[in-house]
Amino acid sequence: MATLTFLGAARTVTGSKHLLEVDGLRVLIDCGLFQGLKDLRTRNWSPFAVRPETIDCVVLTHAHIDHTGWLPRLVAQGFTGPVYCTEGTADLCSLVLPDAAHLQEEDARFANKRGYSRHHPALPLYTEADAAEALSRLRRSPFGRKIAIGKGFEIEFIHAGHLLGSSYVKVTRADNSSPGILFGGDLGRYSRPILPDPTPGVDADVLLVESTYGDRVHPPEDDGAALARIITETHARGGKVIIPAFAIGRVEELLYWLFKLEDQGRLPQLPVYVDSPMAIKGIAFYQAHRGELDKELEAMRRKLPRFTAVNSGLESKALVENDRPAVIIASSGMATGGRVVHHLFAGLPDPRNTVLFVGFQAAGTRGRQLIEGARHVKMFGQHVPVHARIEKIDGLSSHADAGEIIRWLRTFRRAPKVTYLVHGEIVAQDALRLRIEKELGWRVEVPVHGQKVEVPL
Ligand SMILES: [Zn+2]
Repeated sequence: MATLTFLGAARTVTGSKHLLEVDGLRVLIDCGLFQGLKDLRTRNWSPFAVRPETIDCVVLTHAHIDHTGWLPRLVAQGFTGPVYCTEGTADLCSLVLPDAAHLQEEDARFANKRGYSRHHPALPLYTEADAAEALSRLRRSPFGRKIAIGKGFEIEFIHAGHLLGSSYVKVTRADNSSPGILFGGDLGRYSRPILPDPTPGVDADVLLVESTYGDRVHPPEDDGAALARIITETHARGGKVIIPAFAIGRVEELLYWLFKLEDQGRLPQLPVYVDSPMAIKGIAFYQAHRGELDKELEAMRRKLPRFTAVNSGLESKALVENDRPAVIIASSGMATGGRVVHHLFAGLPDPRNTVLFVGFQAAGTRGRQLIEGARHVKMFGQHVPVHARIEKIDGLSSHADAGEIIRWLRTFRRAPKVTYLVHGEIVAQDALRLRIEKELGWRVEVPVHGQKVEVPL
């Protein structure tokens, strides 16, 4: 038997951390940052459930910050072991962890300047030096091969189809005496461009699976019709399409659709800009690993000269001031920071423009205000009137919906002894639990934060 403790992403969608203890071995699967509401974010400052120096190793399923963003803190608090992950995850971590550290340091500086922190001086959760130290611990590991992690246990990375390098992690005994535990990470989708389908037919005694969209079904694939309509209409008005996007993952899929639609003659010829140094580096990593991606990426690669990379701040400023029709992709995805804020500041008052949201907009963000129809938003201390059109497309999510989760579960050769739903809000989790119980007859549990369970291994 082994002990599993749910230290994050339990009845919520961020902070993924699962502690596995067996035969004196301590492994932490994922080390994510809590994000969103304040109650969750304050957990980032709590002492860890066990002393970090007693953890033998960390294993990362993929590079998203809600699965990796607490690693520099764990390292700063005394964790000294190796961090296993795939090549793609290591590459993307080299972008997202220093960036997260930079934001933490900026927040602390800002709090000190304004004097609003309870702590004097306000300290960052971690620094860029901590992020660099965390990156030095990464052990780049192949997919589909057993990797010894000590005390007679092995891990294996299996393609999850959710992001470059994304995986499920299977933990087994080296002597094959048990089917093992499958940590599902985040589950990708079927028949999507860029990424492979989730790997079918994995065998495990214990399964952890995400449930972000456990109560929802994504709108059926519309072959980019919505995107084509929005861009064509904006072009006809002589405006710009401003797309706030997360720097990794989503940008590649957007570019794919833009080039495909253009190829099919469904888009007007107009310049496409990617205004984010991090997104531009991310695109390069996707190209470097195209062997593990969907073959359709090859087609996109041939077309890549068609977008203009905006690297320097000066070029970005010039683009903000440029009035000509264009598609501009810039981060952050929820319009809370980054270069897209400057594009919105200049572009929102102009009725010719469109702001197009392609990702989940969390409560309290500027993106959420805009999609809920705000007539003005506050930026740089000013009230900016919203005359631009606000649109959103839901079909571009990289998380499996309820139907796709069930479809993946049906590929299991036999039912796991127990399935834990993680990485979801409670309403979505209840809906998915009922569906799995009814349609598959499996035993399903929805753990709470900090819950400890005994599992076979
Ligand atoms: Zn993810």
